[in-house]
Amino acid sequence: MLKTRLPLFALVLATCGAAALMAQAAKQWSLQELFQRNIGSKEDQDTAFPPHKIIGNVYYIGTRSLGSFLVATPQGLILINSDYERTVPVLKDSIEKLGFKFSDVKIVLGSHAHGDHMEGDAMVKELTGAQVMAMAEDVPALERMKPGNKTHPIDRVLHDGDTVALGGTTLTAHLTPGHTKGCTTWTAKIAEDGKTYDVTIIGSVGVNPGFQLVNNAQNPVIADEYMQAYKVLRSLHTDVPLGSHPAMYNLGEKYPKIGKGPNPFIDPAGYKTELDLQEEVFLRTLAEQRAAASAKGK
Ligand SMILES: [Zn+2]
Repeated sequence: MLKTRLPLFALVLATCGAAALMAQAAKQWSLQELFQRNIGSKEDQDTAFPPHKIIGNVYYIGTRSLGSFLVATPQGLILINSDYERTVPVLKDSIEKLGFKFSDVKIVLGSHAHGDHMEGDAMVKELTGAQVMAMAEDVPALERMKPGNKTHPIDRVLHDGDTVALGGTTLTAHLTPGHTKGCTTWTAKIAEDGKTYDVTIIGSVGVNPGFQLVNNAQNPVIADEYMQAYKVLRSLHTDVPLGSHPAMYNLGEKYPKIGKGPNPFIDPAGYKTELDLQEEVFLRTLAEQRAAASAKGK
């Protein structure tokens, strides 16, 4: 009996093991899928996600797929990511729904010089008089960003490691280039319930379809820049990961958990998972582009 049972038992074990392994193996994202996951549809970009408190004095006021954040201080508000001009009224509405005044926005910061994050800067400045601050390496791209032919306002040029302080909250700008030359990851120490948490808003490490990582005449060091960004991001201690697109920190999964237990946005493991996922796609794309370039060279 034992003789016939053993192989069956072994087979069951082996099958379970394989299933567990398969479940463990992370989904392999294509470049296009990951890009789409982040940017969503036009409707996702334009429709408000319910505004909510993330942690301490940090709030979400973005849309379903464009991450915008508000830091509320006794001296006024810091807005991170004005998004498109067309989404500025959506952000304004979300700020007011939380009980804040849009006219209290004193400082506008951004994730990087792409229209979906910083096109609205001029409009926000027009409406509030806020100071717009941007990373030096992104200034040329921002100067080319002229919605309705408006000049992109830049009141303060930032450099890697610079801090922006208002009403007791200090944000630090980390240069995480590649996605754009001046792509910026923001960090802050935020207090809640007597504890302090490291909050990180990832600027972006995504490779958009069409990005040339190899033999790029406009930016010959783009691949090195991405690697620098990953190195910086991996060096940042992070309790609360956030990002320029909310899919970068699984907002859709976390939002329903608000108030039903521990703060769902405290997710250090999720930060690492996201970096692993994005870096795998970056390295695979780089290897593919290098192989294609060397095949072409032969
Ligand atoms: Zn971008």
